[in-house]
Amino acid sequence: MKHALPTLTYDYDALEPYIDAKTMEIHYSKHHQAYVDKLNGVLDKYPELQEKKAEDLLKDLDKLQVSDADRNAIRNNGGGYVNHSFFWTMMGPKKEIDQKLTEEVTKTFNSFEEFKKLFSDTAASRFGSGWAWLVRDGAGKLVVYSTANQDSPLSQGHTPLVCLDVWEHAYYLKYQNRRPEYIDNWWHVFKLL
Ligand code: MN
Repeated sequence: MKHALPTLTYDYDALEPYIDAKTMEIHYSKHHQAYVDKLNGVLDKYPELQEKKAEDLLKDLDKLQVSDADRNAIRNNGGGYVNHSFFWTMMGPKKEIDQKLTEEVTKTFNSFEEFKKLFSDTAASRFGSGWAWLVRDGAGKLVVYSTANQDSPLSQGHTPLVCLDVWEHAYYLKYQNRRPEYIDNWWHVFKLL
């Protein structure tokens, strides 16, 4: 079984003017596709791993019977594949508020505004390339943090609930070095809370 790009449920220009169509096109059809292709390339060597879901490869990353170089390639490209597939579902032209999650976030972080500030600050201060996350940790608690590169919270036993890509490829065409402005604007197309 080869992994494949998920279908985008909206057009490249659906998130304009906050996320521009060109960025969406390149991000999805080039960057995301490259992670899928490279993951499939590594897995060519391991037929038994091709049957597993990419999420499960990330959950079991430390236990996989693979070389260190291939483990690293699965971390990076499996992470790139899974993280982006999830990221596209965070956004849309219409709000699809998750009422239950909204209530839990409000309760945990005192208000939606406080959550938003913590999440935005976490995304802005990630050094270099990476992601900001809201996750449910192993104890069931909601936590905000960031990861480097394409590292997935799944690899530390956490369940991702919200993610934001802060790699430069996610915003550079429109925002250049203005990552905080990209983050502020991203909330306009974030649909869950
Ligand atoms: Mn990306």
